[in-house]
Amino acid sequence: MNLGRKLFLSYLIVIAVSLVVLAISTAFVAPVSFSHHIEMMMGRPMSGRMMGGMVSLLDDIQESFRQALTNALILAGGAAIIAAILTSWFISRRITRPVHEMVKASQRIASGRYDERLIFYGGKDELGDLTRHFNQMAASLAESEKMRQQLIADVSHELKTPLASIKGYMEGLQDGVIEPSFETFELVHHEANRLQRLAHDLQELSQAEASQLQIDAVPCDAGSIVKSAVDWLRPQFATKEVRLTLNLPDHPIQALADFDRVRQVMLNILGNALQYTPPGGEVTVGLSNQDRVAQFIVRDTGIGLAPDDLAHIFDRFYRVDKSRSRAGGGSGIGLTISRHIVVLHGGTIAAASDGLGQGSTFSFTLPLV
Ligand code: ADP
Repeated sequence: MNLGRKLFLSYLIVIAVSLVVLAISTAFVAPVSFSHHIEMMMGRPMSGRMMGGMVSLLDDIQESFRQALTNALILAGGAAIIAAILTSWFISRRITRPVHEMVKASQRIASGRYDERLIFYGGKDELGDLTRHFNQMAASLAESEKMRQQLIADVSHELKTPLASIKGYMEGLQDGVIEPSFETFELVHHEANRLQRLAHDLQELSQAEASQLQIDAVPCDAGSIVKSAVDWLRPQFATKEVRLTLNLPDHPIQALADFDRVRQVMLNILGNALQYTPPGGEVTVGLSNQDRVAQFIVRDTGIGLAPDDLAHIFDRFYRVDKSRSRAGGGSGIGLTISRHIVVLHGGTIAAASDGLGQGSTFSFTLPLV
C-alpha cells in the first residue's frame, strides 16, 4: 500500500474511533442526564393518580428524546464522515505529493538526468529539509559527473599528443623519411617517458581524489626535507644558470610530516620555479615557524602569474601556457597532487604573484609537532 493510502486510512481509523466513542458516550450519558433534569423540574409533591400519569408521560418523553438523539447522531455522524474523508484526502495528498515527486526525480537521476531538481515547497518542516538536501545531493552528483567527463576528455587529450609523436616518428622510420639516428630514438624515448610520467601522475591523482593517498605523518626535521629536495635539483639549477638560495633557520623545526610526500611537494614547487624562471634568474627557498606551523616558501623571479591564472593554478590539468608546460613534461597535475598532500597533513598551500613577469611565490604550511 502506498504512503498516501496509508495516511488516508490512518485518518479514517482515527475518525471512526472518535465517532464510536462519541456515539456510545452520548447513548449512555444523554438519557441519564435528561431524566435527571426532568426530575429536578418536577421536584414538587403530587397525588397518586397524577404520579401514575406523569410516569407514563416521562417514559414517552424519554423514548422520543432517545429517538431524536439517534437521528441527530446518524445525520451529524454521516455529515462528519463525509467532511472528514474529503479533508483527509486533501491533507494526505498535500503531504505525499513532494514525496511522490522525489521518487520520480530520483528515478530520473538514476537514469542519468543529473540536472533534475525538486520544486522547493518553502516549508520549514522535515519535508522542506528533505527537498533541500535532495537538491544538494543532485547538484553534487551533477558536479562529479561533470568532473568525470572532464577528466576523460583531459586524459585522452594528454595521451593524444605523445602518442601522435611516437606514431609519426615510427611511420617516418618505416618509410625511410626519418633517419634511424640516436636523436630520433632519443625523441621517441622522451615521448614514452612523458607517457610514463602521465600514467604515474594520473594514478597518484586518482588515489588523492579517492582519499586513498597514504600519509604517514611523523615528527620530522622540516629543514632536512627542504635540503634533500634542494640538493636533488641543484645540478639542474646550475645547468640552467638559475641562482638557488637557501634560507634555513639555525634551529631545527620539528613538523609532523611524511618525509617522502613533503619532499615530493618541495620537488614539484622547486621544479616549477626552475622551469618557469629564465637563465640569470633567482629562486629563494625559505623555512620558518609561525603560529604553531612550519612555513615553507619558494620565491622565484620568473615569468609570474596573472590573477586569473592564480585562481586556477591548483586545478587539475590547469596549465597557463600549455605548449611551454608540455615541452617541459608538465601535465598540470603536479600542483593538484601537492595540494592534496598538504591538506592531508592538515596544512595549507597558496600561490601569489604580482603579475606576469613579476615572479611567483609558492608557500605551504605543515603542523608543528
Ligand atoms: P605542470 O606539471 O604542468 O608544471 P603543475 O600543476 O605543477 O603542472 O603546474 C600547473 C601550472 O602552473 C603550470 O603549467 C604553470 O603554467 C603554472 N606554474 C606553476 N608554477 C609556476 C611558477 N613558479 N611560475 C609560473 N607559473 C607556474
